[in-house]
Amino acid sequence: MAANVMEIYGSKVFNEHVMKERLPSATYKSLKNTLHKGAPLDIEVANVVASVMKRWAMELGATHYTHWFQPLTGITSEKHDGFVSPVGDGTAIMEFSGKELVRGEPDASSFPSGGLRATCEARGYTAWDPTSYAFVKDDVLCIPTAFVSYTGEALDKKTPLLRSMNALSGQAVRILKLFGKDVDYVSTTVGPEQEYFLVKKEDYEARQDLILTGRTLFGAPSAKGQELEEHYFGAIRPTVNEFMKELDDELWALGISAKTKHNEVAPAQHELAPIFAETNRAVDENLLTMEKMKLLASHYGLVCLQHEKPFESINGSGKHNNWSISAGGRNLLDPGENPMENLRFLVFLTGVIQAVDEYQELLRMSAASAGNDHRLGANEAPPAIVSMFLGDELGAIVEALIDDHDYTSAERAAMDLGVDVLPNFIKDNTDRNRTSPFAFTGNKFEFRMPGSAQNLSDVNMVLNTAMAKSLKEFAYQMEGKTGDEFEAAAIDYIKRTLRDHERIIFNGDGYSEEWEKEAARRGLANHRTTADALPCLVDQKSIDLFTEFGVLTEDEIRSRYEVKLEKYNKIMNIEIRAMKRLVRRDYLPAINRYAAKLANGITSIENVLPEGDTSFMKDKLEKLVAGAAEINRQLEKLHELHYASLEVADQQKRADMNAHEIIPVMDALRAAVDAMEIIVEREAWPVPTYNEILFYA
Ligand code: ADP
Ligand code: MG
Repeated sequence: MAANVMEIYGSKVFNEHVMKERLPSATYKSLKNTLHKGAPLDIEVANVVASVMKRWAMELGATHYTHWFQPLTGITSEKHDGFVSPVGDGTAIMEFSGKELVRGEPDASSFPSGGLRATCEARGYTAWDPTSYAFVKDDVLCIPTAFVSYTGEALDKKTPLLRSMNALSGQAVRILKLFGKDVDYVSTTVGPEQEYFLVKKEDYEARQDLILTGRTLFGAPSAKGQELEEHYFGAIRPTVNEFMKELDDELWALGISAKTKHNEVAPAQHELAPIFAETNRAVDENLLTMEKMKLLASHYGLVCLQHEKPFESINGSGKHNNWSISAGGRNLLDPGENPMENLRFLVFLTGVIQAVDEYQELLRMSAASAGNDHRLGANEAPPAIVSMFLGDELGAIVEALIDDHDYTSAERAAMDLGVDVLPNFIKDNTDRNRTSPFAFTGNKFEFRMPGSAQNLSDVNMVLNTAMAKSLKEFAYQMEGKTGDEFEAAAIDYIKRTLRDHERIIFNGDGYSEEWEKEAARRGLANHRTTADALPCLVDQKSIDLFTEFGVLTEDEIRSRYEVKLEKYNKIMNIEIRAMKRLVRRDYLPAINRYAAKLANGITSIENVLPEGDTSFMKDKLEKLVAGAAEINRQLEKLHELHYASLEVADQQKRADMNAHEIIPVMDALRAAVDAMEIIVEREAWPVPTYNEILFYA
């Protein structure tokens, strides 16, 4: 396959290369204007694009098309329409017009809208996002689209993301102008690192909890876990290797530059990272990647688990959001090579620090989900506290700015900022702090809170908008100043702002208990659960931010908050019900059966051998009976709380109850069952255990 990678790469994508080759040059030119300058697309142009696109797609075997969009469920949606159109004389033609390309009307009444749209007026419409290329997948031409209501409210994840990219661009363009650079558009780039597990299909099928909830609700730790760290970057098992190869091929054909793949720390865990792309495309590509992973795993008798915490006691899966800002191919989080570039870098860096501190709660909120709650703060992932790591070198520079002294480094001469040149961070092997939720890694920031199952739109929407706010403030204070006056004012601004937001910078061990205490002293937020993290979305401060930049209206914000809350509560409800049913129908009966068998065994043995020592068997029987009683107690407790929670109409109150009252009981119930798993006879246990699921050939 490798030989024709160049041939297959992008072969199923209607990218700029194809556009240029196939579109009449006038059409291509106006489409390019739309692509790069956001000019509206006129219907004449759309008609030509549609007909060329249709022919191209049909050559690749496409018979249908779909507007491909991301409703608030976070996953992608598609509804296939055939190109075929009967002409009345018994024959048919293949039809696809400009109108159908740029606009679609899915019957969308079943998508969550958080009360934005009454079901009677359910029809929203989808609108083409030409900056994310159309592609052919399984004989369907997929057209990436935004999904909005007739009154213009965003009903999806993409619309506000695009708005936030524009907001950031608008402000960054102002900053670059101050530095004497005229650009039309500044984009943000994202490279998501996708972690996932692969398990055998037969094990998956034997675990109702995995099927229903994506994670194991029960399961004692395997005798061996990840402590030997032999899996990390270890040799990839042959079947998994075959899977990864096919995945690469499929992704490359879709123009997704899958780049690195390796085994992760936990057994059966893997990671795939693509080369970064502009944020909206990166998100689309990540969603496609996740879909392909699930689909292709089945070709190898495997199931791909994308839940944030499929297994307790070993690492869960995250999705690191590598993020930067770029103008005309120039990375603005790259320190650059001369004093003015250094200053510009410091302005953007300061902007990020200010944004992350000021909107730390929103960032935490953007990564909140029922699944991710199991991961954040466990000993594998950043805590629920947002802080930033800058690395030794940059950290020292920022400290020098804050303390107002010159920066000296061991290898470099003293540096008077604005005169000398900042070190080149990319080449520097900055000591990377894996425990930091928001780390500078040479020429980009890596936000490590997001979970593996997440659609990264929300995270980047928050990040971009918060950054737009920082940049706007800087521009506002600097515009009108030039030359030395500008430089002096800029450095002064940077110093002041860094001082104001110093508390967000933390270079130590983010997993430690001391950090939790220290963070509390610094006044940093620590929302441990989704229920605690969500309310900040509807704070006045958040509403002000999003409305100021036209990213979300107050109604859109409130609806999103409702959707997130409801989703959390629905997931909790499913997990509780699954737990109760599994305990009642599988685990308790199995334990009871085994206890009865043991009891009969004891009686038989004593009949034959009255003087034999059966005390150890009786001990075990006692443990089993006591264990079953404990399980039953926790089950009853859970049952009562569950029913009480369903009576709570207020979704936030219900979420609070789930997070703070019910989860501890779920944990206790699980612990009681897991304690039995390790003493019940192997054959008697009703499901495959961690040992079997995680370590397979
Ligand atoms: P790591 O050591 O953290 O794995 P890599 O250099 O391998 O770092 O990058 C990880 C991810 O970051 C990749 O997806 C990569 O494409 C992405 N990345 C690199 N540069 C940028 C950038 N300027 N903007 C966004 N993402 C980037
Ligand atoms: Mg990384």
